[in-house]
Amino acid sequence: MMVELQGIPVAPGVAIGPALVLNAEGYSIPRCHIAASDAAAEQMRLRVAIEEVSKQIEANRMQTAAVAGEETGDIFSAQLQMLHDPRLNAELTKRIAFQRHSAAYAVSRVLHNYATALRRLDNPLLAERAQDVLDIERQLLTELGAATRRPLEDLSESAIVLCHMLTPSETASLDRQHVLGFCTETGGPGGHTAIVAKGLELPAVVGIGPFLDKISDQTLVIVDGDHGRLIVDPDEETVARYRRRNEERRDLAQRLSELRSLPAETSDGVRIRLSANIEFPHEAASCLERGADGIGLYRTEFLYLSSAEEPSEEDHYEAYSQVIREMDGRPVVIRTLDLGADKMGRHPQVDRENNPFLGLRSIRLSLRHLDLFRPQLRAILRAAVHGDVRVMFPLITTLAELRQAKMLLSTVAEDLAVSGVPFRSDIPIGMMVEVPAAVLMLDRFVREVDFLSIGTNDLAQYTLAVDRSNEYVAELYQSTDPSVLSLIRRSVEIANANDTPLAVCGEMSSNPARALLLLGLGIRNLSVPPSSLPRVKKAIRSVSIEECQAIAERVMTFEAARDVDLYLIGRLRELVPELVVS
Ligand code: PEP
Ligand code: MG
Repeated sequence: MMVELQGIPVAPGVAIGPALVLNAEGYSIPRCHIAASDAAAEQMRLRVAIEEVSKQIEANRMQTAAVAGEETGDIFSAQLQMLHDPRLNAELTKRIAFQRHSAAYAVSRVLHNYATALRRLDNPLLAERAQDVLDIERQLLTELGAATRRPLEDLSESAIVLCHMLTPSETASLDRQHVLGFCTETGGPGGHTAIVAKGLELPAVVGIGPFLDKISDQTLVIVDGDHGRLIVDPDEETVARYRRRNEERRDLAQRLSELRSLPAETSDGVRIRLSANIEFPHEAASCLERGADGIGLYRTEFLYLSSAEEPSEEDHYEAYSQVIREMDGRPVVIRTLDLGADKMGRHPQVDRENNPFLGLRSIRLSLRHLDLFRPQLRAILRAAVHGDVRVMFPLITTLAELRQAKMLLSTVAEDLAVSGVPFRSDIPIGMMVEVPAAVLMLDRFVREVDFLSIGTNDLAQYTLAVDRSNEYVAELYQSTDPSVLSLIRRSVEIANANDTPLAVCGEMSSNPARALLLLGLGIRNLSVPPSSLPRVKKAIRSVSIEECQAIAERVMTFEAARDVDLYLIGRLRELVPELVVS
């Protein structure tokens, strides 16, 4: 039966295909239903599996007791007790007999429910027992031939991944040939998982809440990344409707591709610099294909997140040189490492933080780990000989941080000069404006940088005190909140008064309606994911600056993000109707 689930739309587009359902630990959840006539055989399979697992646990108990003493061995006695718990066994048998669950599916569901109930008790001892329950689940599923951890980097068939969560690095390493889209139970609108999904052009919905136990592997699903919907087991009419939408999307993309070599210029002749945000060097090609004026934000931390080894100076140099050469003289803004918070790879090891978004992330982490930072800065200066390179520091909050980063850059340049390595030291230095403190102190910062770029993703997070990757507060996370807009307006005023170039590279600029608002607020430099370039260019070319200013003037009278967005979408519908997704 068709079921529609609502989540948070994070990467546009529609994907239709079979589900690959993974549980919270990344194991596929087995196919669920059996014929009534198979119930007895399935119950027998379960009994055999329980006996086998009992033997293994008993062997573990004896081995551990011999090495570490009886008391340690007792950990396994507790597991044995659980495995033979009459209530548990009755529930498993009942599910197979009455709900026609396969043995594996019954094990997966019942033991998961047990583990969840234990975790919810808010008792650390019982929460630990949840681990034992999951351990038993794993062993039973292995015995039943159903426990398979699916490496998402290497699938053999096309699938839509449905799972509890995906980190930004897991998302980045998804098998692009076979993964058509994904949906997660957790995650918020501004998390980097969402950003990577957009970069990979994978339709995605996050923050749906618990739903995995409602779906079995291989069920046909539709991911509607435009509206944040996951449709399970769609009827024929729904599939046909979504297929039509995909065709319309392809037609529009075809029409917009004709703008590729035309400038991003308003109807009254104001040239807007429209650049692209990338995470990986290979994306440079699609930026050029879509007519980007340059790279406005190169998120270099993904070099760390996508490799098992710590990248060397040479790895940095190679990656940057590839992008710079490919961009062939167009400006390339290399943002220094923005690791930490939700972008934590294996390097560097940082202890768990209570508030990672307020913790040792981004420039703070780089300045604390010069072993990471120095090689990157050396590589940037070396690669700069190949083109128009600019360096940008993220999350600058105090003048001291900016000065420290600049100082480090100049000592790195001196080292290079001493060792006779070719490099360029006269590259423009910029900073991201993504915390309210930076806006409040912007009149001081402008004296010490060559350019600025507003990161609306973090600026909204820190202005509104809303974790950008948290589904529970997703509705509060709005870059069009009047407070955020007034910080943007203030930044424009200060930047203009000081003749300092100012860009917006947060996701806000990738939304055509919001891009028009930014133009109206005085922004002349936008950087967007490559997939958004054609739509944003179309919007720019369809309006005059006067129209944008009127939009901004009106918007600044609103008191809530909701009103702003409703108004903006209305204006976009009037000015560039083909860009409004129905
Ligand atoms: C931002 O914060 O708006 C930004 C562009 O940086 P990131 O999304 O990588 O934090
Ligand atoms: Mg940021």
